[in-house]
Amino acid sequence: MSLNQLTIQQAHKGLKNKDFSAGELTEAVLEQIKKRDKDIGAYLTVTEDLALEQAKKVDEKIKKREEIGVLEGIPVAVKDVILVEDVKCTAASKILENHIAPYDATVIKKFKKAGAVIVGKTNLDEFAMGSSTENSAFGITRNPHDLERVPGGSSGGSAAAVAANECIYALGSDTGGSIRQPASFCGVVGLKPTYGRVSRYGLMAMASSLDQIGPITKTAKDAKIVLEAISGKDGLDSTSVEFKNKFQVSSFKLQDLKIGLPKEYFIKGLDPEVEEVIKKAISKFEKMGAEIIEVSLPHTEYALAAYYIIMPAEVSANLARYDGIKYGLSEKGDNLLEVYLKTRQHGFGSEPQRRIMLGAYALSAGYYEAYYLKAQKMRTLIKKDFDEAFKKVDVIMTPVSPTPAFKIGEKIDDPLQMYLSDIFTVPINLAGAPAVSIPCGKVGQLPIGLQIIGKHFDEEKILDIAQAYEDFTS
Ligand code: GLN
Repeated sequence: MSLNQLTIQQAHKGLKNKDFSAGELTEAVLEQIKKRDKDIGAYLTVTEDLALEQAKKVDEKIKKREEIGVLEGIPVAVKDVILVEDVKCTAASKILENHIAPYDATVIKKFKKAGAVIVGKTNLDEFAMGSSTENSAFGITRNPHDLERVPGGSSGGSAAAVAANECIYALGSDTGGSIRQPASFCGVVGLKPTYGRVSRYGLMAMASSLDQIGPITKTAKDAKIVLEAISGKDGLDSTSVEFKNKFQVSSFKLQDLKIGLPKEYFIKGLDPEVEEVIKKAISKFEKMGAEIIEVSLPHTEYALAAYYIIMPAEVSANLARYDGIKYGLSEKGDNLLEVYLKTRQHGFGSEPQRRIMLGAYALSAGYYEAYYLKAQKMRTLIKKDFDEAFKKVDVIMTPVSPTPAFKIGEKIDDPLQMYLSDIFTVPINLAGAPAVSIPCGKVGQLPIGLQIIGKHFDEEKILDIAQAYEDFTS
């Protein structure tokens, strides 16, 4: 096995035992990027110098026989909406083509303190809007399992980089499924934490009441390690909270576990082959001793509609700051208004423009009550559905996506078809709950992800359950 294929846990062990150095590990990852990324297109920026410099520091520490932390010296890729000081951060948008981040996001500050090696910034749908990474202004990313197919989105670059061993792990962001769906399409683990568990400071905002940063890794244990490193209250994000900072192994027994299957998620439109893989995976939990119970989340059918009102409303407010004056691209004009209009017309791609317009419309006088307020009420009902279901079960299991990775170009001209691929991930963001996608089988050569949803702040439990599945099936 080459070094770039290792998990965090394996790499840490190897570094501690001096089987290899952090420099060698980083070189192996950089080598793989050079070899493979021409075909995959996972990276927008490779920070080779920064990475080698950081690796060197770690090697000096190891030489001096100092203790190293679990992420120390281990190469990570970061979605290009998360700020790394002095490194370009584009959100895959022309409007930020040459934007250099002036400071570190809180998660990056934590990474640097932990001695992580940042190897680069990964591709995404522009401003994280999309489900295929085809909306990037700087080219598409391809699925490592089939180069004719999308890697999912919007964190498609991060998921593809992990799957192609072009990093050991990565960070993504998830507003309506953008960590879990690409993890599912690329056959890796992707965790969306509980809203508030991880600071959003330094994450370019898409829809602030839904956005969360989370890990994309090769194993559930690795996801736990990364979550522990990035979570916690941050004075710079008032929605972040402290919750048991040190992770204990959650004390559940698989034999006592009650797993809920929501009937609204096993419906027409779910690819029968995907359904078969998911049902088979769930039956393995039954073999491990868990009890499977049908539950109902009755407002599921309204989730996508509510999301596509609330999210664009927040998008239209958040993206107002890109005006040609404060950041990035600035088109010339005869007056201030013309500068704004030309910059935004030429700087934003069609998907952000569509959502800004939808959002501005939904928030405008007269429509606010009819659309926005109604969507917010629906959001409350969706959250209550989960609260009710969790009175009966410990976790809920569903598919992540109704289909395996689709073909490049298949949905890009039909926004509604693209939006429908988020049907199983969006409700969880609306509820604020944590959920993980784990690889649970394949349709042909294409990986399928199983979604395990937990109660708020139950990340340990869902990751332990994910790990139990990995152990059982390996
Ligand atoms: N695919 C969804 C969208 O287009 C989710 C995006 C995300 O989670 N950032 O809005």
